[in-house]
Amino acid sequence: MNIPFIDLKKQYARVEKQVRKNIDAVFEHGAYIMGPEIPALEKELADFCGTKHALGCASGTDALTLALMTLDVKPGDAILTTPFTFFATAETVALLGATPVFVDIDPVTFNIDPEKLDKTIEALKGADNGCVLPKVDGLTVKGIISVDIFGLPADYDAIRAIADKHGLFLIEDAAQSFGGEYKGKKACSLGDITCTSFFPAKPLGCYGDGGMCFTDNDNYIELLRSHRIHGMGPDRYDNVRLGITGRLDSIQAAALQAKFEIFPEEIDLRDNVAATYAELLSGIPGLTPPSIPEGYRSVWAQYCPLASDAKHRERIQAALGEKKIASPIYYPIPLHLQTAFKGLGYKTGDFPVSEDSASRIFAIPMHPYLEREQQEYIADIIRNA
Ligand SMILES: *Cc1c(COP(=O)(O)O)cnc(C)c1O
Repeated sequence: MNIPFIDLKKQYARVEKQVRKNIDAVFEHGAYIMGPEIPALEKELADFCGTKHALGCASGTDALTLALMTLDVKPGDAILTTPFTFFATAETVALLGATPVFVDIDPVTFNIDPEKLDKTIEALKGADNGCVLPKVDGLTVKGIISVDIFGLPADYDAIRAIADKHGLFLIEDAAQSFGGEYKGKKACSLGDITCTSFFPAKPLGCYGDGGMCFTDNDNYIELLRSHRIHGMGPDRYDNVRLGITGRLDSIQAAALQAKFEIFPEEIDLRDNVAATYAELLSGIPGLTPPSIPEGYRSVWAQYCPLASDAKHRERIQAALGEKKIASPIYYPIPLHLQTAFKGLGYKTGDFPVSEDSASRIFAIPMHPYLEREQQEYIADIIRNA
């Protein structure tokens, strides 16, 4: 049985006519950069998320960079985040010369642990409470980047309270969670600025790179707009600050508009696929399928069970691999142990929950068009491994 990890071809068969029509319209009007598709998509997606503003940009990574620039992040600033995420979450912090400060995750949700977050902030402010800090002196605590890993929002009531208590900004890295929900609010509406990605494999993906920032703040959206195009001012040839080339292409926005038409339905389909997995994988000795706390909705960017240990995972991956079924690991090396962050001075053992999760987790095929028969086939292989 041929089971793709993400079946973008099946999806394309559904949206092809509308995608081609929308992209043809771009060829007709010729505004390849900042065409009418950009503000139209921004309005549609801001309405969907329930935010006042949205800003299309070139990638999820650029969305994070633009958010950090807008919040005036600079050398000497400490930005708290999780080590159990994609590299870009902390890379963008370091690119601006600031210092990522890692906080371990909750073992069930794989998202940042609010209690440890609060303690780490206290430690940065001088408390001697045993929290591990980077080997960088004289840091100013500036903000938090929470990550909605695998499509599940983090615990925003708790995180927001901590941000407010310490006077910190909160960026929501929603690169994986566009379409998710937290206590009746949509993912992408939970940070001071939220960043998402339209990388093809994300829940809402385009046919190339793309991203978006969301905010309710009128001042932030002006700054985001300026940073997106080289720090432009009201007179576009008088640049008032430094920025980047962070625009979303009109063609990608046109494709996204077509794909967004079926997106709400795809969220429900993903939910069904996840429910079927939960049923089929329950009761397999040593296997822990993902679980979603009450009041949360995951958009299932990835479906990631935990094996009992690294050996068990190896057996499962080998058995799936034999049948040509991909089971990639997100993420095999937590950020505090990655070579690029060696300078921060972290070591193995600093974030045990992240390290333990990284040693046992694996992803299995997840997309809206997965069939029950295919899921049964996958579950049988895992059970027999
Ligand atoms: C994908 C991803 C990003 C980066 O998005 P790109 O569009 O690939 O630049 C950032 N953070 C997380 C958590 C991601 O999954």
